[in-house]
Amino acid sequence: MTDIATPQKPFVVVLGGIESGVGAALLAQKQQYSVFVSDKGTIPIAYKQVLKQHGIRFEENQHDENLILTADIVVKSPGIPEKAPIIQQIRAKGITLVSEIEFAARHTTVPIIAITGSNGKTTTTSLTYHLLEQAGLSVQLGGNIGESFAKLVATQPPPSYYVLEVSSFQLDDIQTFAPHIAMITNITPDHLDRYNYRFEEYVVAKFRIAAHQKNTDHLILGIDNPAIQEHLQQNLHFSEAQQYRFSIEDDASVAFGTVESMTVLGKKISLQQFPLSGKHNRYNALCAALVARILGIDAATIEKGLNSFEALENRLEPVATRNDVLYINDSKATNIDSAWYALDGMTRPIVWIAGGTDKGNDYGLLYELVQQKVRAIVCMCVDSSKIKAAFSPLGIPIVDALSATEAVQQSQQLAQKGDVVLLSPACASFDLFQNYVDRGNKFRESVLALT
Ligand code: ADP
Repeated sequence: MTDIATPQKPFVVVLGGIESGVGAALLAQKQQYSVFVSDKGTIPIAYKQVLKQHGIRFEENQHDENLILTADIVVKSPGIPEKAPIIQQIRAKGITLVSEIEFAARHTTVPIIAITGSNGKTTTTSLTYHLLEQAGLSVQLGGNIGESFAKLVATQPPPSYYVLEVSSFQLDDIQTFAPHIAMITNITPDHLDRYNYRFEEYVVAKFRIAAHQKNTDHLILGIDNPAIQEHLQQNLHFSEAQQYRFSIEDDASVAFGTVESMTVLGKKISLQQFPLSGKHNRYNALCAALVARILGIDAATIEKGLNSFEALENRLEPVATRNDVLYINDSKATNIDSAWYALDGMTRPIVWIAGGTDKGNDYGLLYELVQQKVRAIVCMCVDSSKIKAAFSPLGIPIVDALSATEAVQQSQQLAQKGDVVLLSPACASFDLFQNYVDRGNKFRESVLALT
């Protein structure tokens, strides 16, 4: 068992015992720091086993404040909110508190490509990784997707580049984290409960990704996004990095895309065989291609990489056609903006399965699209009152369902030949499901069970 708080070794306390926390603990131990993991909840068995195997001390279902407050440095997992009492105590004592990505970045010199934004992070990160890997670069994928950054640094041989998905929570406690290439895909309201219900605070958190970049670093920004535009107008000197702006509206941008093709740093790349549909995926392709071009990859290789990318589950995933009705699983659409792009991308009448745990949604933003395209709404949630209030003026059928099976059966009844049944909930899933993956799985199973 590791000894605690010996005078020679820094004493690292890791708060949270899941992917980020266990990764940080493994890295701390590899650095021969003294380490202790504390989780207020129950640590899943698989993670407990890893900690035990490595002889890392931990506690669960409690925080031993006396011990934690003797730390030299505390590494915080992204799920722990600023208002948690233990965080307040750590701050009051003046103990250094960093996020897991900050801790990991302090222990590697490998250049980082970091991708943040409200929507499109996972798609863009996976696509960027795919383009670089297909071009023959040694890359590792992680962060908010797959393995945590700290775990990669602790357990894998160093690659030439890390490609990381980074959430605003992970950016909240960085002090030096400086990606060689950083990207903000877009910023729309989400997670406002963690930012005092102030959108501006959430925007600032996203822009932190660029705060420590140098003039040899690169920053990619989605310039069609109003929140990004506004922040740039109001904050002229927020980063030293060289900026690259991508757009599907302004053909003067260094990366500009139409439906058929895009021009990225002067090179034309066809999108005709790109397998992902929708405007939003054109943005994602622009971002990923910009990274590849900055790293000197030629247009033909990028085009080949784009064409061979396989769509991810739960993101506009076509599940099956039954009775000439196409069922699409967009369970990952957990906010208004992502549902907007899903509805916008549909070319057939829609039976829309929506609802879940509301995050303070403004459904008015979807009203016009729903009016134009939606034949009926199936509310798959415990409380459908807000959706009903928003869309009942349209006079279309709006029905309730309390499970994926019920929602799919209701949709089958409401759909006509040639329609699409779209699960794109615009809400979190926790009222009826474990998470968005569980919601997507249950939807897929229910569709496949239709005769
Ligand atoms: P994130 O990791 O940021 O949640 P994902 O790539 O997992 O992003 O996609 C989440 C949801 O947002 C899906 O419904 C997807 O279809 C949609 N989406 C993907 N890219 C974008 C984008 N650039 N803008 C808006 N919505 C997007």
